[in-house]
Amino acid sequence: MESVQVILDIPTEKRSYDIHIGQDLLSQAELLLPYLSGKRAAIVTNTTIAPLYLDKLRHALTEQKIETFAIILPDGEQYKNWETLNLIFDALLGHRCERTTPLIALGGGVIGDLTGFAAACYLRGVPFIQIPTTLLAQVDSSVGGKTGINHPLGKNMIGAFYQPRLVLTDTTTLDTLPDRELRAGIAEIIKYGLIHDADFFAWLEQHIQQLLARDFTAMRYAIRRSCEIKAEIVSLDERESGMRALLNLGHTFGHAIENTMGYGIWLHGEAVAAGTLMAADLSQRLQFITSQDVTRIQHLFETAGLPTKGPRIAAKRYLEAMQLDKKVKDGTIRFVLLDRIGQASINSSVPAMLLLETLTTCIT
Ligand code: NAD
Ligand code: MG
Repeated sequence: MESVQVILDIPTEKRSYDIHIGQDLLSQAELLLPYLSGKRAAIVTNTTIAPLYLDKLRHALTEQKIETFAIILPDGEQYKNWETLNLIFDALLGHRCERTTPLIALGGGVIGDLTGFAAACYLRGVPFIQIPTTLLAQVDSSVGGKTGINHPLGKNMIGAFYQPRLVLTDTTTLDTLPDRELRAGIAEIIKYGLIHDADFFAWLEQHIQQLLARDFTAMRYAIRRSCEIKAEIVSLDERESGMRALLNLGHTFGHAIENTMGYGIWLHGEAVAAGTLMAADLSQRLQFITSQDVTRIQHLFETAGLPTKGPRIAAKRYLEAMQLDKKVKDGTIRFVLLDRIGQASINSSVPAMLLLETLTTCIT
């Protein structure tokens, strides 16, 4: 049993927090003890994860004399809404939870976002602990402090910045994650290499098979490096004015794919993979990167079993969908493009002709 401690110095709320990454951490509840001030904790999870991992966590906490109760929510992005949030508040009030009662999110990004937002709001803020169980949540949504829910008129539109006290990443939980969800998480990992760390990208090229096989040592390093890169970028720019937008490489195109295909048809990570290839293609047309670079990127996504071309949608519809992107300012789309493998920057003056070429070339 091994466990790595990653100290992330995120200056939100003027404190840092730890991300423990290791095997079978769910049964090591003593890791949570320093962050539990009372004798009780609420665990928020869903109907898929509860039968897999809830008992294990509750048992470990009981052994540490922490009384727990579980709030088991329906599973799915469509439940990341006010109604479900209210179910959490109902349970917290019903159990007379106090300001010291921590909320523990046991699940993927949906559970993490909902629980974090509930923790930010309940009694104007209670302690929050994340136990992410999808690869995407372990490398992305559990870092950076964004919490929130969807509104019928837009995804992630209602929310708050709220940092957890601790993130406990138990890589053993990945054993039950469907392959498709695993690969979607790998797409975001590849993104980190592309935007910030050429050596990490090269490491991923060497170790992609180990990651797909869920090899612990490789997985631990990939998760750790991803968290470090995200934390570094977030801490440079906490409220998304500049640097943080780089985390959206492939996302402008990706969101257009998700939007036009209907959410849930393409997983987010799959849309990001195809979107990243579009961003790479556009970067090459602008002569920032070479065709060999594009080939390397395409090869890595392909080996990871991720799509490298967008669905065959008319360029006009792509463009319409891209206008909805959060990075659009005064009608101008701001693209995250690659200066080289390992470095990205924002570009708001992409010639329409080149964009059109990308949108008509990088589709199936
Ligand atoms: P998810 O939470 O819906 O999980 C995907 C599926 O896997 C679900 O059905 C879930 O029940 C299941 N699952 C989770 N862990 C499992 C396990 N160990 N074994 C088997 N099944 C398991 O999806 P996600 O990809 O983890 O997260 C997506 C959400 O995260 C979106 O709502 C997105 O907006 C959000 N997000 C937030 C941030 C942020 O900064 N806060 C960043 C990225 C994404
Ligand atoms: Mg993403």
